[in-house]
Amino acid sequence: MLIKEFISETNKNQMISTLLKHYKVGSVKIKQKSMKDHAHFDVDRGTLNLSTKYKVIKSSQIKQFLITIIHEIDHAMDAKKYGWQKFKDMYEYEQNMITQGHYKGKSDVYWDHPYEIKAEKFGQKNYQKWYKIFKKQDLF
Ligand SMILES: [Zn+2]
Repeated sequence: MLIKEFISETNKNQMISTLLKHYKVGSVKIKQKSMKDHAHFDVDRGTLNLSTKYKVIKSSQIKQFLITIIHEIDHAMDAKKYGWQKFKDMYEYEQNMITQGHYKGKSDVYWDHPYEIKAEKFGQKNYQKWYKIFKKQDLF
């Protein structure tokens, strides 16, 4: 059996477009950007940035890749649900609550942020399902 160490860009893009379609965030603005992370939802602009940096990703990185994409999709779904400008306000409100010490024991504007916690949970909860689906489709 051939073990694929790297995932082609075509297969990577197919996984991304399947996920965007499934979670119905196809209408969210998408920008290809050279950056370290696989994906990042820009709350200030309502844009889902996808990395062009990893032209090919290693199979060993697939778990993190899926968690990251699904995490960012959760933000994109919220932006779609509320409208990105409203979501930006909601996101900033929570940031301010943390900064001003309104949440007991929570001080990190990222890791303690309720929308970040929600998005990370969503990624962790759903990546295995997609891992199995994409594996079956021979995408990695
Ligand atoms: Zn996030």
